[in-house]
Amino acid sequence: MTLDFLGNLQRTHMCGDLRASNAQEHVVVMGWVNRRRDHGNLIFLDIRDRSGITQVVLDKELAPKAHAKAEAARSEYVVAAIGTVRRREAGLENPRMDTGEIEVVATELLLLNESKGLPFSPAEDAIANEEVRLKYRYLDLRRVEMQKNFRLRHEVTRAVRNYLSDNGFLEIETPFMTRSTPEGARDYLVPSRVHGGHFYALPQSPQIFKQILMVSGFDKYFQIARCFRDEDLRADRQPEFTQIDLETTFPQQSLIFKFVEGFMTAAFKTAGIELEPPFVQMTYDEAIKNYGIDKPDMRLPAMVGLDAELTPELRTALKIEQGLPVLGFIIPKVGELSGTARKSLLSEIRAFFGDSGLDILDVARLKTNETFAPLATAVEAALSAVEGDLVVVVTPKLGTPAMWNFDPQWIYKKVGGLRLELAKKFADKHGLHTQTGTAADFKFCWVTDFPMYEWDEEKKVWQAAHHPFTSPHEDDIKAGRLTTDKGAVRALAYDIVLNGTELGSGSIRIHRKDVQAEIFRSLGMDEAEQKERFGFFLDALEYGTPPHGGIALGLDRIVMILAGASSLREVIAFPKTAKAIDLMVDAPTPVSEQQLRELSLRIATRT
Ligand code: ASP
Repeated sequence: MTLDFLGNLQRTHMCGDLRASNAQEHVVVMGWVNRRRDHGNLIFLDIRDRSGITQVVLDKELAPKAHAKAEAARSEYVVAAIGTVRRREAGLENPRMDTGEIEVVATELLLLNESKGLPFSPAEDAIANEEVRLKYRYLDLRRVEMQKNFRLRHEVTRAVRNYLSDNGFLEIETPFMTRSTPEGARDYLVPSRVHGGHFYALPQSPQIFKQILMVSGFDKYFQIARCFRDEDLRADRQPEFTQIDLETTFPQQSLIFKFVEGFMTAAFKTAGIELEPPFVQMTYDEAIKNYGIDKPDMRLPAMVGLDAELTPELRTALKIEQGLPVLGFIIPKVGELSGTARKSLLSEIRAFFGDSGLDILDVARLKTNETFAPLATAVEAALSAVEGDLVVVVTPKLGTPAMWNFDPQWIYKKVGGLRLELAKKFADKHGLHTQTGTAADFKFCWVTDFPMYEWDEEKKVWQAAHHPFTSPHEDDIKAGRLTTDKGAVRALAYDIVLNGTELGSGSIRIHRKDVQAEIFRSLGMDEAEQKERFGFFLDALEYGTPPHGGIALGLDRIVMILAGASSLREVIAFPKTAKAIDLMVDAPTPVSEQQLRELSLRIATRT
């Protein structure tokens, strides 16, 4: 087939823009053949570009040459159609298409490029398997849904950028080729050719640089920043991902919250969702107590302590350990369960608890027993349960404390885990996970006052719960707890959580060298190691570092949630697989001997 040249032809309209008001206009549209329908003397080509689809008609009598070309055209050929817009005849309009009122009657058709037989058609709703989609990503990205996701991503990014710029933030880039940054993941390394045997690390986040920018007096910084972390991947992780990263000088925590709520509101508005800040705030301890987790899903009711209802006498009668919390929660609208369904649910829950020492109280059965019926009623009242709600009450068995002494929060966490499991199991019934397209779908909260340290039971050491630049609570520093009572030290760290997913975290930073050195020391870093890894940073702290703080939120994740997508790969143009492979460009690859030599590297076979 001979292809046509574009010559100096220019398009006049995007395909999706044509309306009845364009009738009689002479137009030139260009794009891909989405579908072709051949009715003999009439051929219909649906031509698609980024904006949408327009129907082009080729009539053998009116334009024999153009018609002949349309006969040769196939799916995903690139064409230019020249013709006149005509209103479709009454009854032939297609209300499902934005351009459904019109069609373009072509006088001329240019075949600008052909396409090989397709591995899958971007025009089809049925989605090919993901490996094929990723290998032919350029075809996959042509799909309307993907185009929509990336438009949304652009709008969200633009809204964030505008909001932050309007509020005094400067966008400043920080290096990709740097040294290890302490976010706790493995680094991606870049070998230096000039300095054989030396490596740059790709940044796990711009953390240190943004702090240095505060030392430098920039006052408010932001960056839509790429971060690199070599972690084992899950569905919601990518080795490189994008953060909305910001930092400001002299902040109170509330100021950071205000900025984040501001740009999130602007971002959600681009998707037609009107958020109403301020978001709910709770401390880490409250989150654990009420939800059993530090990223509460507030779409369902919280857990409730039932110690007032489970009096010591009742505990004795029901063989429940004294002194440990009894917790309950409801899953709304589960409906009446049959005897068998209830029994199998009870054994499922008991299997979930395993030998942890927790058990479930069969409230339905208590109701049938004269002695315990008042307890059942009291429990239902405490949980504000109504007809049809599933009532779950979890009790510690006798002798449980000995097993769990080292973590006083374990019961809350375990019951919180069960709450999430059951919420998932009965999602169809309660419907609270289903998006309705309004702000009510999005339950945001701030979690504050995280513990500064976590006890690593295996290694028997305290670990920083966040990166080590997070400031402890001033009161805890003043009270000397950094050395005397690490478990009680609270961090000035906060997370923003949406529907049970952590969207981002941040903190007020340490701005004093003595405190920073103490934190490093308490994490087991001796002075030599501190100097070697963070010497430049400790130096910077000695030249008038102002109090500062910030946060970073995962942009990919925000867009994923707004797009209603189930994987980050739906909102990252060229993502990697769970094995960290780019299937389109086929990376990573081996490199030549020559390259290795230049980099002073030799490949050793892994044993
Ligand atoms: N650098 C942190 C992170 O990437 C965020 C922050 O503390 O600002 O999680």
